[in-house]
Amino acid sequence: MIMKIKLNDIATFKALMSESSRLYEEAQMVLVGGVNSPVRAAIRPYPFFVREGKGPYLFTVDGQRLIDYVLGYGPLILGHAPEPVVKRIVDYVSRGGWLYGAPTEIEVALAKKIVSHFASIRKVRFVNSGGEAVATAIRLARGYTKRRKILKFEGCYHGAVDYVLVKAGSAAAHFGAPSSAGVPDDVAKLTLVARYNDLDSVERIMRSEGNDVAAIIVEPVMANYGVIPPRDGFLKGGLREIADKYGALLILDEVVTGYRLGLGGAQRYYGVSADITTLGKIIGGGFPVGAVGARGEIMDLLSPRGGPVFNAGTFNGHPISMIAGLATIEVLETTNAYDIAISASRKLAEGA
Ligand SMILES: *Cc1c(COP(=O)(O)O)cnc(C)c1O
Repeated sequence: MIMKIKLNDIATFKALMSESSRLYEEAQMVLVGGVNSPVRAAIRPYPFFVREGKGPYLFTVDGQRLIDYVLGYGPLILGHAPEPVVKRIVDYVSRGGWLYGAPTEIEVALAKKIVSHFASIRKVRFVNSGGEAVATAIRLARGYTKRRKILKFEGCYHGAVDYVLVKAGSAAAHFGAPSSAGVPDDVAKLTLVARYNDLDSVERIMRSEGNDVAAIIVEPVMANYGVIPPRDGFLKGGLREIADKYGALLILDEVVTGYRLGLGGAQRYYGVSADITTLGKIIGGGFPVGAVGARGEIMDLLSPRGGPVFNAGTFNGHPISMIAGLATIEVLETTNAYDIAISASRKLAEGA
């Protein structure tokens, strides 16, 4: 039987989720707010604790089965524990180890896939989260242009990174803290904030500060503040031309949109070319991942090639994340997964 709980029916929620309540009490003693990422505490009256996931369902520690509309906030485009992904991971770990501090074939295979899907990307650096990818992309843009400032958009979220925690979306917005304590004014003042879908606001800022702006960074579709698509001409023509005019790079943060809008992400969908692309979420198939991609001239500034822009990571290109991402992308390439996802989300959005 499928039960629907009304959003504010706290009494029913509590009756069904009593084991979660007990665990949440325990969690709050040892984890800040009982969670490890703030949005998870946004569930009222308290977060349910998950035991496992299968396909479209979550099973809570209370024995409840829930339809999962969140899917890990984006990475799980195939749902929980899809068989082709499970099989590849199990095969891999049953043969040997999972961390070598040396390169593996699987990193090359996933990078080749990304390069084949994104016309603006010739080389890739894998990191461990979308936020890390954004931090690396910004450092790269500053290293390339030798400029200090970046321009972002109010409500766009780019990870828990100092430079972009200014008027950010996601949990940063939900909790009414548009920026964060601990980000020095000296850092925050290098971040300029324009309004999404408002090219005049961008042009105004660029006219006065443009010659010190290293990059314009944007979520091509705003996905952390509700879902707000770009107006016609905002990306292609708009931001692309303004960035070129002032010699700034255009960073498309495709951590959500990459492989969600289709193979090739928002840049293929909207016909706009990025200077630097950040990816994450789906490309790790549910395991921690991030990636920065661009043309060779930009990427080769990263250590160890040209070297002046540093990036490194113990877990960069982690074999399990790479395998899970590769297996996920192969399913997306060879099935009608996007048609299903698009028609299902349209139905949901239209309340049909
Ligand atoms: C989720 C997200 C990030 C941050 O990725 P993490 O893996 O959570 O660090 C960055 N940018 C966008 C657009 C995102 O949706």
